[in-house]
Amino acid sequence: MGCPFRCAYCFLQIVPYFRFNKKYLMGLVYRNWDQMLAELDEWLSATTARMLLVGELQDGLVFDNAYKAITGKALTHHLIPRFAAQRRHRLIFLTKSTLIKHARHLQPTPQVVFSWSVNVEYAARRWEIGPPLPSRRLRAAMEMKKRGWTVRIRLDPIIPYDENGEHWRDGYAQIIDQINELGPEMVTIGALRATSTALGTVAAKNGRAADIFRYLTAEKDPSGFKYRIPFDKQVEMYRFVVERLDRRRTVPALCKEDVSVWKAAGLRFNGCHCLLEGTQVPRELMSAGSFKAVIEKDPRDGISSETR
Ligand code: SF4
Repeated sequence: MGCPFRCAYCFLQIVPYFRFNKKYLMGLVYRNWDQMLAELDEWLSATTARMLLVGELQDGLVFDNAYKAITGKALTHHLIPRFAAQRRHRLIFLTKSTLIKHARHLQPTPQVVFSWSVNVEYAARRWEIGPPLPSRRLRAAMEMKKRGWTVRIRLDPIIPYDENGEHWRDGYAQIIDQINELGPEMVTIGALRATSTALGTVAAKNGRAADIFRYLTAEKDPSGFKYRIPFDKQVEMYRFVVERLDRRRTVPALCKEDVSVWKAAGLRFNGCHCLLEGTQVPRELMSAGSFKAVIEKDPRDGISSETR
């Protein structure tokens, strides 16, 4: 858990465990890591296809050296062979790290995806204190792709900055062109958001650039889920990204957004896309009641005819 990269917008800062155990916010590896691997083996025995994401409560790759020092093996070396040994479940490493020196010694497998979270260079310098610059992350992504791994990109959080002679349109145009050169399987787009106004207060206390939160609205989104950038601006930015992205090679997708946002951004809602099998919706999702309800409401928003 935790992460040493100290991004201003990181939600880990308001996770109760880290608020009360501040020193662990920078990262920890649990002593009972062998129990985690035993649980993973049990998880892998499930008969329903699943996707495991390493990178929700921590950066997915940054602890590879720490695992090597503590357990004798990098985390990638613990996990990847387990996933490579079967064909049902998949694993995603979500990361801002460029620590690929352990993973590059492993054979690529379609059961594992590396997903780099990137942003424009200006936003990264302003609001991400610790991680390597996005240009370096993209270089690591390119190397892994050339080695035969499936690579995805997360362009998140998009920020509507217009300051110091820098404008979001110029910055995102540049990074999208670089992403197009890479040609990832998928790009997940997300905009700045916060579950609680406490995030800004805690970020300031943690010495992070809390001025980023001035871009958020004073009220939560209609679903009462999060504070976000104003809807029209969010849609304008999503459209800008989607239209510039090379969609012949890369599938664009949104994360945890309402179907109305997909529609406004010119995208067809296609299920919880991290789970996509390539560009297709898994059968088990198609049979889920909530998914069916969306499809039945407006069939054009749903799964493509070839997946029906
Ligand atoms: S890299 Fe991710 S997990 Fe780490 S501080 Fe930044 S947002 Fe948080």
